[in-house]
Amino acid sequence: MTDASPAGPSASKPAAKNKYDYTNGPPPLSINMAWCKACNICIALCPKQVFEPDRDGKPIQARAEDCNQCTICWVHCPDLAITSNYK
Ligand code: SF4
Ligand code: SF4
Repeated sequence: MTDASPAGPSASKPAAKNKYDYTNGPPPLSINMAWCKACNICIALCPKQVFEPDRDGKPIQARAEDCNQCTICWVHCPDLAITSNYK
């Protein structure tokens, strides 16, 4: 179940690949912009730099494909504005 290693001479340490593929599904997260107060906590804490702030400072999923559903953003959002579409 955990074997995701490609074959090849440099396969000993493959680049970490996101097990989530969002190309045919919804984006990784739903963000309730009415609840979001643009505190930027999610933007600052995301280890994958998924977010960019919009002109109001609210998070846009600019690199949605990199989201690995780590939970950090939604557990730290003080306004409970973020929910996962996959968990
Ligand atoms: S942590 Fe929550 S309230 Fe703060 S910017 Fe992100 S979504 Fe908005
Ligand atoms: S779940 Fe993790 S990787 Fe995805 S946007 Fe939130 S903090 Fe970033």
